[in-house]
Amino acid sequence: MAQKTYVIPIFIPHSGCPFQCIFCDQKQISGTSRMPDIDEVKCTADEYLTTIPSTARNVMLAFYGGNFTGLPEKIQYDLLQSVNPYMESKRISAIRVSTRPDCIDCNNLLLLRKWGVTEIELGIQSFDDTVLTESRRGYCSQTAIKASIMIRNYGFTLGHQFMIGLPGDDWGALVKTAQISARLKPDMIRIYPTLVIRDTALADLKNFQPLDFKEACRRSAFLIDFFELICVRILRVGLHPPQDESSIVAGPFHPAFRYMVYSYIWRDFFMSNFSKDFLYDIIDVTTSCEDFSYVVGYKAQNKQLFNQSCKIRPASWLVAGHIILRTSSGTSLTTNRYIYRADKCRQLTARYTSSGDVD
Ligand code: SF4
Repeated sequence: MAQKTYVIPIFIPHSGCPFQCIFCDQKQISGTSRMPDIDEVKCTADEYLTTIPSTARNVMLAFYGGNFTGLPEKIQYDLLQSVNPYMESKRISAIRVSTRPDCIDCNNLLLLRKWGVTEIELGIQSFDDTVLTESRRGYCSQTAIKASIMIRNYGFTLGHQFMIGLPGDDWGALVKTAQISARLKPDMIRIYPTLVIRDTALADLKNFQPLDFKEACRRSAFLIDFFELICVRILRVGLHPPQDESSIVAGPFHPAFRYMVYSYIWRDFFMSNFSKDFLYDIIDVTTSCEDFSYVVGYKAQNKQLFNQSCKIRPASWLVAGHIILRTSSGTSLTTNRYIYRADKCRQLTARYTSSGDVD
């Protein structure tokens, strides 16, 4: 069984950012308004470490909420040096930074490697140039591709962060983004539906319509299926609930968005593969422990597809994605959602792939 990874988050809101992106307000999201100094980084690390078992092997310190490689070199050095004693004593095993694709070059990758950084997450948002232009990100897809290749070549673990539903985004752009990302072999991804945050340029953008909740679930589900099939870790789906939820003025927000999307994936699996009558005849469902709450669904909506007397139980011996359905007549069916979802993913990919523009 994979060992649990503990993450010590250090927020550096907007530090190193060349400008404020139209959709972003890290201060409102994180509730932190300034970058911590070295003593505060140590203090946060010490505090977290008191709650983490001393035997834990995978403890990562992660700098979030800003553009790490956009910081002056001296500040990057000081921040990373402050983590060094924990790395030497093996209390912290990895350092992750997140940054913009246009702030990656050979020089900063060499320094990051020398100073102990192991993982780099790129705020890709999209690999579609129309989306990048309309969202005023300030770089094109080629820059993000080049940055990803360099990060891999320098031996870092690579993460891609995507936003769905940005200005100019559609299914074609989404599929293109997934395909290009897959070729760059990220180790992990994060999926964020675009939300409109108060006092951002996006909030003032005329004619911008965020995705509705169902469409955000559909597109997130596509990315999950796509990347699960090629064994890329899905680190996060949906924005971490901000300190002040009223700062979100529009968009598909839910504090448990990941749960909502996985519940949707299972519901879609049941409804697309079985007749209503068959589902209503199911009296016993066995799932993996990992899938149990998703199979039950939000407010038990998926459970309501089955017979009223149906019992859903988790089984530690069942592999994630697999499920056993038993009907009142004793018929037992073992199946898994990956086969169906893989098929659906292939169909969507084929439908929305525009020839020639992915390679
Ligand atoms: S999206 Fe990233 S680069 Fe843009 S303002 Fe936010 S933290 Fe900075």
